[in-house]
Amino acid sequence: MKFDYVIVGAGLTGCVVAEQLSKFENKKILIIEKRNHIAGNCYDFRNENNIIIHKYGPHIFHTNNKKVWKYLSQFTEWEKYQHRVQAHIDGMLVPVPFNINSIHKCFPMTVAREIELALIKKYRYGAKISILELRKEDDELLRMLADYVYDKVFLGYTVKQWDFRPEELDESVTARIPVFVSRDDRYFQDKYQGIPKLGYTKMIKRMINKPNIQLLLNTDFGTVKNDLQYEKLIFTGMLDEYFNFEYGKLPYRSLRFEFETVDLPPIANSKDLRKAADELLNDIYNIRQVSSEVFNDSKSLREIYNTLINISSKLTDASSESSGYTKVLIERVDELLKIASGLLNEAKMLFDDSDELLKISNEMLMKITDIRIKPSRYQPVAQVNYPNEYDYTRITEFIHFYFPYYYQNQSAIAREYPIPFNHGANEIPYYPIPKKENNELADKYKELAKELENVHFVGRLADYKYYNMDQIIERALGACRIINREQGQT
Ligand code: FAD
Ligand code: UDP
Repeated sequence: MKFDYVIVGAGLTGCVVAEQLSKFENKKILIIEKRNHIAGNCYDFRNENNIIIHKYGPHIFHTNNKKVWKYLSQFTEWEKYQHRVQAHIDGMLVPVPFNINSIHKCFPMTVAREIELALIKKYRYGAKISILELRKEDDELLRMLADYVYDKVFLGYTVKQWDFRPEELDESVTARIPVFVSRDDRYFQDKYQGIPKLGYTKMIKRMINKPNIQLLLNTDFGTVKNDLQYEKLIFTGMLDEYFNFEYGKLPYRSLRFEFETVDLPPIANSKDLRKAADELLNDIYNIRQVSSEVFNDSKSLREIYNTLINISSKLTDASSESSGYTKVLIERVDELLKIASGLLNEAKMLFDDSDELLKISNEMLMKITDIRIKPSRYQPVAQVNYPNEYDYTRITEFIHFYFPYYYQNQSAIAREYPIPFNHGANEIPYYPIPKKENNELADKYKELAKELENVHFVGRLADYKYYNMDQIIERALGACRIINREQGQT
């Protein structure tokens, strides 16, 4: 088989490269992928409850790079999701990155206030300090804080995740999650953040859906390489594997995911529902009062109010019966709210010349929307980290990524267990391990790579770098510019 470009790996890197090179329509491109799907570790799918699951761990897109954001936005619309993470510390859920809110959660008020002031004085509000940097502090109070955060947030998690202590790894690893002198609870502060509206797989599929791109799934490059002819090879797999581990094996870390569909607990917010129902009832009385002055004799208005009152009391009943499961209650509420909002709209149309009535109706509609979005969840945020307890590092609840998943009686979670990577047939090298001696070994392979004129190495595995998705895209776009230059294409 003869191609202009053969790309090994249909992950984000391989697919960005394919998309860019496919712009030259006379060029024939083949992507070879050993898994049975595209998108590499960004792969996602819908489960039986229509919830989008990230098969290889939670993926949140975040970047300050406008070009990368614009590039990806050609292929997807975005769910404007902002990631929040809490860590399970001494039985409490504490915001991570550890910030001023976390300090107030973990220390008595006066001590917390002192630490907060000391941090602001030393570093300024808004500063981010890596934990290993903070541990060099002379100030007694700040050193106490550093030791606390190191012990409670970083040590256990890092040993589980990497099988190394924080100080044995490149500082950049733990610096990803710095101590943050701020009240901002978000995991990332990047300007552009989100999750592809229809998922990563759909987004990536759109990139490579081109007549001059062929895709070969379930195929290891090693098994077909002798049958292929090409001008250029773009390799996104493991750097050391390409060279038959000539200098020895580069270490990687792997993961095991335990997926579970969980029944949502009996509704925890039935109090909220009852309160909302009471408010609704109150509003209905208000409307009646206002409108009876204006439209004293209107029969249809009276009918609408009666229906609404009826609905509201049913809502109250439903919420007080809610010792049952979410499903029953939610179905009931859903049905009632649908009728209520229809009737309110009708009322608005009938009496749109009454400003007061219109205002109250609008407020009621907003309240109805409010009730609708109060969900029951397995955990309060998408990601809860377990630095100290259990063998897993984190639990992701996928339902949080998309709005509105307001009524679900089942949710989907994944527990994430770090495990060694031993080059077994079905093992996945999720993470290069950023460590001095590993980087040096990777550099030796990179010297070999430079000697190959018709092969480009790009990607998290091929560069042996702990890249986020935006970094990978920037890297892949840059590699394509070089390839095009080499071939006299612009
Ligand atoms: P991969 O996704 O690994 O793709 C490489 C592909 O090549 C794979 O499909 C593999 O099967 C295939 N392949 C390898 N060797 C061969 C071969 N010999 N023959 C055929 N095919 C081969 N980034 C973020 O920005 N935000 C996040 O929230 C985030 N969360 C993450 C969570 C986890 C648990 C992990 C592991 C990563 C996360 N990332 C995140 C990083 C993101 O996954 C990577 O940046 C991105 O997937 C890298 O893409 P890639 O194509 O280089 O690598
Ligand atoms: N980390 C930690 N405790 C936490 C969160 C992160 O010790 O609660 C450390 C850990 O070493 C982890 C690294 O910070 O591997 C980077 O965290 P990140 O959330 O970026 O990891 P990823 O999502 O890439 O697995």
